[in-house]
Amino acid sequence: MTNKIKKVVILGGGTSGWMSAALLKKVIGSAIDVELVESEQIGTVGVGEATIPPIQNVNAVLGIDEAEFLRETQGTIKLAIKFENWRKQGESYYHTFGSAGKSFAFCHFHHFWRRAQDLGFGGSLWDYDLNYLCAEEGKFAKINAKDPILNLAYAYHFDASLYGQYLRKLSERMGVVRTEGLVDKVQQDEQSGYITALKLKDGKEIKGDLFIDCSGFKGLLIQEKLGTGYDDWSHLLPCDRAIAVPSERFEHTVPYTRSIAHSAGWQWRIPLQHRNGNGLVYCSRYYSDDEAADILLSNLETKQIGDPNLIRFRTGRRRKQWNKNVISVGLSSGFLEPLESTSIHLIQTAIVRLIHLFPHDGIQQSTVDEYNKLSKLEFEQIRDFLILHYYVNERDDSRFWRDMRDLDIPDSLRQKIQLFADNGTLLREQNDLFLEASWLQVMLGQGIMPKDYHPVANQPSDEALKDMLDNIRAVKHDPIPKLPSHDAFLAQFCGKR
Ligand SMILES: Cc1cc2nc3c(=O)[nH]c(=O)nc-3n(C[C@H](O)[C@H](O)[C@H](O)COP(=O)(O)OP(=O)(O)OC[C@H]3O[C@@H](n4cnc5c(N)ncnc54)[C@H](O)[C@@H]3O)c2cc1C
Repeated sequence: MTNKIKKVVILGGGTSGWMSAALLKKVIGSAIDVELVESEQIGTVGVGEATIPPIQNVNAVLGIDEAEFLRETQGTIKLAIKFENWRKQGESYYHTFGSAGKSFAFCHFHHFWRRAQDLGFGGSLWDYDLNYLCAEEGKFAKINAKDPILNLAYAYHFDASLYGQYLRKLSERMGVVRTEGLVDKVQQDEQSGYITALKLKDGKEIKGDLFIDCSGFKGLLIQEKLGTGYDDWSHLLPCDRAIAVPSERFEHTVPYTRSIAHSAGWQWRIPLQHRNGNGLVYCSRYYSDDEAADILLSNLETKQIGDPNLIRFRTGRRRKQWNKNVISVGLSSGFLEPLESTSIHLIQTAIVRLIHLFPHDGIQQSTVDEYNKLSKLEFEQIRDFLILHYYVNERDDSRFWRDMRDLDIPDSLRQKIQLFADNGTLLREQNDLFLEASWLQVMLGQGIMPKDYHPVANQPSDEALKDMLDNIRAVKHDPIPKLPSHDAFLAQFCGKR
């Protein structure tokens, strides 16, 4: 056990550094001093522009005004991710933040829908999902519905560097001290190995009790200084590079991210108010960097407005996300490709977890162990969900996709897939970020149709089942014509031009 924690030092001023600074200062407040060190000379990774709905909790805690937030980050609304060419070329499906139908006490809606498929009616499952209907029509409004089945869950797309600046402004207003400078040396206590201070190139020394490593992929404190180690998962998720490039915006801004599979990777398209964010995630065993750049640039659809940025990564996680008095947050803690926009969320949960377990009176090993156990589980659960997208595919056009079907996947994932394929049962582990609705959409979208359904779905007569499905579909479709377009919403809500 060490002494009381009075001063927290954050190394790095990317999304992870500034989100950590803002949340810690806001929640723990005057009990600690927070100082953040960053180097403009090094800069940030410059990507990370699509989020998932829990980011709204960060905004709520920080007391962020949503219209101001969207204005200042050139943000847009995200209702879903559209996966194109993932199951087969020419096919697409959505993973929305909503859920199809309505909830029933003993068996999920999709069992009723599955029975209807056998009877020759029911249509597409997505036709019962308000998020999907709005995404397809390019519509959005903040629906204040009394009926929970009309809840429209959403997240945001934003400009990564504007988001960093926005969080910086908030943090500094709350009293976070920012120091510009390049960390050159790291001082350690000889006995405990705890970090005691960061030494900057200009000679300045920044002392602290607890250090948050937000220094990016290299993990300057957690890895370069403490040698914590890394669990490499590239045998499960082999993509290891990305090229990112901005392009001009489309005339109409869609309220969803696009994920377009190519022969050895996939391309993202993120619509912002002032531009599109684009990138190709790929595996360097199958594409050279030049080939990857050609594929990306020839599939932009709007004019390129910046230079391509090549980013190398290794999928996996830091063996201990908390080691001694260093907690790694963001890219320094591990990396899972941005297929489901989970990295910023992992920053959020890392800091929330730290706040829950904050070692005010000194670091106890039991606290560190608990933190590391929860972080490991979280990374593994997201990893499995990502593997699902690759493993269950029917593409025969390239070696990459055939190889993905031969992945030696974790048993836990194999069991989930088998159970769903057998009888439509969705197995969601405790605390899994992805709810049943997410597993359902991706399993169906990738082509797994359950052989059977829950017997409770046999209770209504054929006619009653048809009426029930028609009614739910009508309720979901009813608001659509009255909703404004996504662009009209942004213009009215936050003054988008
Ligand atoms: C291709 C790609 C696409 C992504 N897309 C998404 C997405 O859509 N959604 C999502 O949620 N996440 C996404 N991510 C992840 C997301 O970009 C990161 O989680 C997020 O940007 C946080 O990065 P960071 O702050 O940890 O690191 P960085 O942005 O790399 O920041 C590192 C900081 O450390 C500082 N630093 C480093 N060394 C020193 C030193 N010696 N002295 C002083 N300062 C130093 C740098 O100056 C910088 O401020 C994506 C990542 C990649 C690679």
